[in-house]
Amino acid sequence: MRLHVINSNSAGNCYLFTDDGGNTLIVECGVRFEQVKKALDFDLSKVVGVCVTHEHGDHSNGVAGAVKAGLDIWATAGTLRAFGSYSHRYNPMKIGRAYNLGPFAVIAFDTHHNTTEPCGFLIRHAEMGTTLFLTDTTFCDYRFPGLTNILIEANYSEDIIDTTLSDKKFLRDRVINDHMSVETCIQTLQANDLRKVNNIVLIHLSDRNSDAKLFQRMIEDATCKTVTVATAGLTINNFNVTPF
Ligand SMILES: [Zn+2]
Ligand SMILES: [Zn+2]
Repeated sequence: MRLHVINSNSAGNCYLFTDDGGNTLIVECGVRFEQVKKALDFDLSKVVGVCVTHEHGDHSNGVAGAVKAGLDIWATAGTLRAFGSYSHRYNPMKIGRAYNLGPFAVIAFDTHHNTTEPCGFLIRHAEMGTTLFLTDTTFCDYRFPGLTNILIEANYSEDIIDTTLSDKKFLRDRVINDHMSVETCIQTLQANDLRKVNNIVLIHLSDRNSDAKLFQRMIEDATCKTVTVATAGLTINNFNVTPF
């Protein structure tokens, strides 16, 4: 399995999972859809679907383009409603139910964000095992058994916002109430059984309130796992069940 990051921050999020057979699952479509087409060499024939966690533009700006290109969009009913448009390409996902998108199985679970019905995803595929996709949430209510790969938000550090936003209470509260701190990220990871985990990818880092190198080291120290910070254009080729 190959993971390709088109972008990962509050300006836009889009992640492509491509298996050995070329089947691609798109998770988040918060970039210009042209960028997605380009990353796929203008061949969308093996895209099995587009999963979107919530309606904020940095996760959904490219949805209209994806629909126009004939791709199926998968999100909770609340998120689809919040797009404010209707398409026969919209597929509502029930929380906790598994949906087969080609060789991928995707389960949505509820998260905590200031949107209609936000969710995270558990994504299963024979090549990569069980992958957790968790972003734009203050914390996570669940533990997930058998994880092999993890993409998780580490948006800000409590220490950094205490300095940068000390006199901007409104902004500070918004960050704290809508996003996951690196400290909560560590607690969330440590609440799960990480023995089989190969990759931890930190996503959606804040431009102003994060420190990529420090966050990577903090998560490495806390988990003893391979940790990568998602940046535009990043590709991880061995996003697999085993590291080999
Ligand atoms: Zn976001
Ligand atoms: Zn959001």
